[in-house]
This record gives sequence, structure tokens and C-alpha cells, in this order.
Amino acid sequence: MERITPATPVVVIGAGPVGLAAAAHLVEYQLPFVLLEAGTQIGQHVRAWGHVQLFSPWRYNLDTAGQRLLEATGWQPPELEGYPTGQALVDEYLLPLANHPAIAPHVRLGRRVVAITRAGHDKLSSAGREQSPFVLHVERQDGSVELLRAGAVLDASGTYGRPNPLGADGLPAVGESAAAAQIFYGIPDVLGAHRSRYAGKRVLVAGSGHSAFNALLELVALAAEAPNTSITWVVRRSQQGLARAYGGGANDALPARGALGQHIRDLVATGRIQLVTGWRTERVERTAAGLVLHAGDQALAPVDEIVVATGLRPNLTMLAELRLGLDPLVEAPQALAPLIDPNLHSCGSVPPHGVDELSHPEPDFYMIGMKSYGRAPTFLLRTGYEQARSVVAALAGDWEAARRVELELPETGVCSGPVVVGGSSAAGCCGPGESAPAAPALIELSLTPVVTACCEPETQASCCEPEAKTTCCGTATPEPNALVLVGESLTPAGCGCQ
Ligand SMILES: Cc1cc2nc3c(=O)[nH]c(=O)nc-3n(C[C@H](O)[C@H](O)[C@H](O)COP(=O)(O)OP(=O)(O)OC[C@H]3O[C@@H](n4cnc5c(N)ncnc54)[C@H](O)[C@@H]3O)c2cc1C
Repeated sequence: MERITPATPVVVIGAGPVGLAAAAHLVEYQLPFVLLEAGTQIGQHVRAWGHVQLFSPWRYNLDTAGQRLLEATGWQPPELEGYPTGQALVDEYLLPLANHPAIAPHVRLGRRVVAITRAGHDKLSSAGREQSPFVLHVERQDGSVELLRAGAVLDASGTYGRPNPLGADGLPAVGESAAAAQIFYGIPDVLGAHRSRYAGKRVLVAGSGHSAFNALLELVALAAEAPNTSITWVVRRSQQGLARAYGGGANDALPARGALGQHIRDLVATGRIQLVTGWRTERVERTAAGLVLHAGDQALAPVDEIVVATGLRPNLTMLAELRLGLDPLVEAPQALAPLIDPNLHSCGSVPPHGVDELSHPEPDFYMIGMKSYGRAPTFLLRTGYEQARSVVAALAGDWEAARRVELELPETGVCSGPVVVGGSSAAGCCGPGESAPAAPALIELSLTPVVTACCEPETQASCCEPEAKTTCCGTATPEPNALVLVGESLTPAGCGCQ
């Protein structure tokens, strides 16, 4: 424990919900710490989507140590069954916590960590490495850089600052940066600050997660007031795969999360959102008529604005001199990755995990919070709070508490598993249903049921949810008004439990 001293404190990177939770636990264990925040305000990332309502109610959004500290000051928790917006989360919880007298003196705003290493050691150097403190290169607002020593580092810097590009292959589409002025990454405040940018415009939204859903919902609300607003939604998933993205509906243990996807499904069905499935953007062209997306020799109709909500990825550049043990796909710690890999994990459940799953070959360095999930999209605050509690307990030498990880997460009500080809695999029939797109030409969708080939009765035993077996192994009828790629509906696809 001598490694953590006032001269070499624990440095927490990021004053978001999980960084602040870590601070609260550090206070309780009386460990010296410094909390660095790149933004000029607490909860900078959450503020960026402050207009969005969380799908988890307050009771899931408060950290236990944070709550204990605040309650001792007379703070009253919000109504626990209510749903805050991002801004309310900041105003009613994060700011009071950051202003707590045991935390406030240790918070440094406008401090961006740009690199971390071990004093006197590059990545290759081993002798005496673990006894050497960390050194963080911290950029101030004026561009100057200060060096900060640390006995341990908790990287809670999130992923919101690193959105995935529009290009379907993970790289920016050709022409994407040239079109930047008409592209928004994230969830624009279309009913508030960004209203004039989108009202009466042809808007295209890319992505199939909750962020895309939120952007679509707000655009539909805007279109009701500004009727010339048109909304096109492009997803890489097939029609079948999209069924899983809509979520578990009434089966979701978080009703607001379940309702979100079902609401979008209804809006597609009623034609208020024009859906294009199986679309993989390769190129963005600026024409006199507007922005045109290309995939192979196919093109979509021109639009005025594009909203990219295709996921997030961690900033690993600042960690280049540390010895990380990351999964090559998910970019999460190796032991955690299989628990959250969207290709594998099932039913939204994540087994309890803490310090052991979050460890790297570099002792005393941990990624916690949203960043710990790498590119996986299913992170919940409650997970991050439990991570913070477990890791801080370990730093304090309280291994009994560190390993007593208790985490119960609300399931999504949908399950996923390996894609099953041809219906004979016993691996399970709850595949994401993604097959390579067929010849990319747009057609109006016929309402002929699509026969899903993976679910022969003999594979029923391996279906992941008993109550879902009927639909899992039945037929699927695509929504009306949807646009799909030719061939997609003819291609046997994996089927999802929905
Ligand atoms: C639109 C949206 C809705 C969501 N809704 C829910 C929900 O309903 N329920 C739920 O449980 N989860 C939800 N999540 C997921 C997740 O809980 C949030 O993203 C949450 O904010 C993650 O907290 P965090 O502290 O890990 O990271 P963040 O909130 O991203 O905080 C990271 C902080 O680190 C700072 N930072 C970044 N880089 C650096 C650096 N180099 N140096 C210093 N500081 C840095 C950032 O400015 C930021 O303040 C939602 C996410 C989004 C995007």
C-alpha cells in the first residue's frame, strides 16, 4: 500500500458517473486521490446527451458510496422510480457529489490525460517496473502539459468522445470527413438546441442501438411539428438481425429500455421512418442535391443531414506505453470480454465481475466504467459502480470486499448466441441472424413471410429462452414500409429469440 501516498495518489481519469463513484469509494477507504476531468464541467460526456432520458430509473443510477456521502450532508435522493434525463443526472446527483467537501478539493477540471507511462520505463522495460510510480501527461486548457505521479490509475474516461464512423467497415467512409459539417456524431438535441439544423430537412440516421433510437424518436417528434422533415434510417443489420436490435419489449427488466425499441418498430411500420436494412456505407458524396451515400454501385436518395450513431470505441492511444491485456475484438479486458461480447453474450445478463476480471498485466492500472466495455454497447451504470467499488477495495488491500462482487443486472429480454447455419447445429438457435448481404439493390419489401432456416424442431432444446421457442423457430414477417436489399429475404438467416 506504500505505493499509494499523497505524493503518488490514486489518479482517477474522468469525472463522469463512474469516476465520481470511484472517488466516493476512495474517500470511504481514506486513500489519497486526484480526479482529472478533461472538460471544464463535471460530467462533460453526460451533458452532451443531457436532453436524453435515461432508460434506467434513479435507483439504478446512484452509487452506494456516493449516496452514503451525500445523505450524510442532508441531500435527498430523487424519486427512485423516476427516470432522469442526462442533465438531471448531472444536476441532481453528479454535481452535488463532486461538490462534496471530501471530493471537491481533489477534482481538477480542464485536465486532459494524453498519455500514461511508468516513471523511467517504456513498455519494454521490466526491471523494477512495478515499483515505479505511474506518470501521467496531463494537458491543461492552455495547451501546457503537466506531469503527475500516481500509485495507481483508474481510467474512467468513457467512450463517448470516440464515436465510430459512418463507414460500415470501421473506417471513415470515403468523403466522410469532407462532409463533416453536415454530419452529427451522437444524439443531436433536435427538439432544442439543434432544432433549426433539422427542422424541415431530409435527415438520415445510421446505427441500430439506443442512441440511434433516441435520435429517431426526437426526429419523429420534430417531423410532427415541421412536416417537411423526412427521416431515413439505415442499418447494417439484416431485417432479421434488426428484430433483435429492437430489444425485448415487455420482457425487458427495464421497461423504458424495452419500450424504446418497440416504439421504433411501430414508427417504421407506420411509415414515419423509412428503413433501409443491410446497408453498408462505403462513400459519402456531396452533390448539389445533397449528401448521397454509396454502397458498391448502389446509392440512396440525397439528404441534408446525417446523424451517425454507430457505436463508440475506447481511446487506447493514451495507454500505448502500458501493458494492457485487451481482447482483440471487444477491446475490453481479456477476462471481461467474453462476458459482454455482443457476438456471444446472452439475454443482457453479465455475470458479476470486479477487480479480477478488470486486471491487466500492468498492476494497479484499471479501466472502469463505460471504457471497460471497450466496443461492447451494453454497459450500465450499475455495472460501473460495482467495478469502482471492487477495484478501490482491492487498492485498499480489502480483498474480501474486492472479491465479494454482487451485481444483478436487469436483463434485456433478448438473447443472442452464435449464428447457426443450416439448422443442424446444436449450438443454439438464438443467433443474431446476420448473413452477408446479397446483391445490393433496393426493393419495396414484400410481406411474404421469411422462412428462418436455423430452427428445426430438433434444435429447440438449445434455444435460449423457453418462452421464445415458438417465435424463434417459426417464420418472421417483415414490417411493411421497410426497404430491404434484394436477396436478403431469400437468404436463410439465423433467427433471434424475440
Ligand atoms: C445516450 C446515452 C444514454 C444512456 N442511458 C443509460 C441508462 O439509461 N442507464 C445506464 O445505466 N446507462 C446508460 N448509458 C450508458 C452509460 O451508463 C453512460 O454512458 C455513462 O455516462 C458512462 O459513465 P462513465 O463514467 O463510465 O463515462 P462518461 O460518462 O463517458 O464519463 C467519462 C468522463 O471522462 C472525461 N474524459 C474523457 N477523456 C478524458 C481524458 N483523456 N482525460 C480526462 N478526462 C477525460 C469525459 O469528459 C467524461 O466527463 C447511456 C449512454 C448514452 C450515451
